[in-house]
Amino acid sequence: MLPYGKQQITEADIEAVTAALRTDWLTTGPRVEAFEADLEAVAGAPCVSVINGTAALHTAYAAAGIGAGDEVITTPMTFVATASTAAMLGATVVFADVEEDTANLDPAAVQALTTSRTRAVTAVDYAGHPAEYDELRKIADTAGATLLADAAHAIGSTYRGRPVGTLADLTTFSFFPTKNLTTAEGGAVASPDPELVRRARTFRTVGLVRDRSRMRQPDEGGWHQEVHEFGLNYRLPDVLCALGSSQLQRLGAFKARRAELSARYDELLADVPGLRLPTRRAWVDPMRHLYPVRILDGRRREVYDRLRAAGIGVQVNYIPAYWHPVFEDLGYRRGMCPVAELFYAEQLSLPLFVDLTDAEQDRVVETLRTILAG
Ligand SMILES: *Cc1c(COP(=O)(O)O)cnc(C)c1O
Repeated sequence: MLPYGKQQITEADIEAVTAALRTDWLTTGPRVEAFEADLEAVAGAPCVSVINGTAALHTAYAAAGIGAGDEVITTPMTFVATASTAAMLGATVVFADVEEDTANLDPAAVQALTTSRTRAVTAVDYAGHPAEYDELRKIADTAGATLLADAAHAIGSTYRGRPVGTLADLTTFSFFPTKNLTTAEGGAVASPDPELVRRARTFRTVGLVRDRSRMRQPDEGGWHQEVHEFGLNYRLPDVLCALGSSQLQRLGAFKARRAELSARYDELLADVPGLRLPTRRAWVDPMRHLYPVRILDGRRREVYDRLRAAGIGVQVNYIPAYWHPVFEDLGYRRGMCPVAELFYAEQLSLPLFVDLTDAEQDRVVETLRTILAG
């Protein structure tokens, strides 16, 4: 089965990991700091590495101080973790509808849902296309809320010339194998605000405070460390950071190949009836994580089944987050975000990854064309 997404691992990656295994460090060693510095060079803001993208979201919300009684406005067109990690901290998640074409959070919908309890607005850069950050920034600032970006799809993208990582108060990344780069499991939190970075770092390390100037009992002894707020062990091991730094060296090449494949899909699928292709805002330079098409005329389920039967591993990204039974049980109802629901009903992600060959892509195009003509 041709997958919809897949990592690229080179001999250089394997050497970087085996070199790390030959040192005394397996967990928190010099490669963690090195990877965080390499990430900062791309993200444009200091980064805290964590064990996965879900942990990154949990850490970002914790750093922002999100808790019971707070409202977090976000998009339903995302992986459930964008919302579930805020809910797990006790917040009420408020789903705002998406833009009809990009499937990104619609600033007008966010504006309409802000209240005196809004503490965070979390955008998702769907498929790698940055959300409308300048507008979301104004709304969040007016509401006194923290602006978050779930950029699990979008490391390497820019918005009005600014890199993803500098657009929100807190930005999260995922390095799962299907994403733009991988550390197997992995993620990071970026922030231009040193205080938020410090809070994220502390949460990621069980809440342990080791800086004497911050301790309540600084004279306890050299061994002493204190927990002031609960945290978790979300550290990304040295061995995986070695893989991350090695992968980051090819991020430019990854972006170029993803752009090339996306442009080929745009061209080869341009005249296919029953199909709608993804759009791009003029002021955005996306790192294309997904190639999300829309299958019209109520045929998405059929096209999905027939492509899978032909060995083409298409995917659907995503069911609206509040359709998950856990949100249904909390009283969230279908129909709440009709634009997102229509988008979901038509959405299909075609295979897109760095090592996808032109010949494989041609087969995807021909198979899809044949199915839609039938
Ligand atoms: C992948 C993903 C996550 C979660 O990342 P993991 O590393 O799998 O935990 C969160 N949000 C979005 C939008 C994602 O695509």
